[in-house]
Amino acid sequence: MDKGDWAIIVHGGAKAISAAETAAHRAGCARAVEAGAEILARGGSAVDAARRAVVILEDDPTFNAGQGSVTNAAGDIEMDAGIMDGATLAIGAVGAVNRIANPIEAAAAMLETPPILLVGKGAERFAYKLGLHCTPPRPTLPKIGVSGHDTVGCVARDRAGHIAAATSTGGISGTVPGRIGDAPLPGCGFYADDAIGGVSLSGEGEAIARTLLGARVVRAMEDKPAAEAVQDIHAPMQRLSAEAGVIAIDAAGRVGAAHNSENFAFAIASSDRADIIAAIHQDELKADILND
Ligand code: ASP
Repeated sequence: MDKGDWAIIVHGGAKAISAAETAAHRAGCARAVEAGAEILARGGSAVDAARRAVVILEDDPTFNAGQGSVTNAAGDIEMDAGIMDGATLAIGAVGAVNRIANPIEAAAAMLETPPILLVGKGAERFAYKLGLHCTPPRPTLPKIGVSGHDTVGCVARDRAGHIAAATSTGGISGTVPGRIGDAPLPGCGFYADDAIGGVSLSGEGEAIARTLLGARVVRAMEDKPAAEAVQDIHAPMQRLSAEAGVIAIDAAGRVGAAHNSENFAFAIASSDRADIIAAIHQDELKADILND
């Protein structure tokens, strides 16, 4: 990929997707990647593209983030989101928030502030001042035909070669109130550095954090292309008997996706590809697509 080229990949969570849910997952990811691609194609920034793509996924009740968030053991929604600008290494994240329609918007606004992560009331107050505050999303009914982990994310590389990564989740159904997973933790659920690449993950947040899974894939991209680096999730997840999925773009703009869950919905667009690729399993991708 040359300077001036762009690429974007989104995911809709590492989980099992039933046949009845397949079309909605492919279509939702395709819609999100298309919106991000449109921004990148007209010279917009990776941060804007990643944020926009994740907003679309948060607004789609197919996915466990934003409007589709699941409830914890107390019956409340608590959402986490994080975003990173690989050009400046600025990080913005929010945790355990409820009264924010699009947690990724609050996280993106945090990119401009010294703290990297705000949780609970402090995060909601911050969002309120920006006009992002809202009534809480309505808890959705348990999703039929979907099981496992479920988070959304995006990695984008813009025409200037800048990389951004964003992740947003409604957390894990029935979990302890106040529990925060990997999604708002840099190096765990997301990371981006223009010099190396960016990642966004889904899966068992505790296992992802305990193995610094996002950081591992980023470090692996120092030596190998994204499509190979993403394979580094398997050994640590096997060690902890945990499930995860990852999407990545390396500094050269090559994409990668891997998961050890049954399915992983994702979509890819780039300046050198005519069509959007939308998949629900890594095997749908041919090696030449991932490596070009
Ligand atoms: N990683 C998220 C968390 O642990 C959950 C998920 O991906 O579904 O909060």
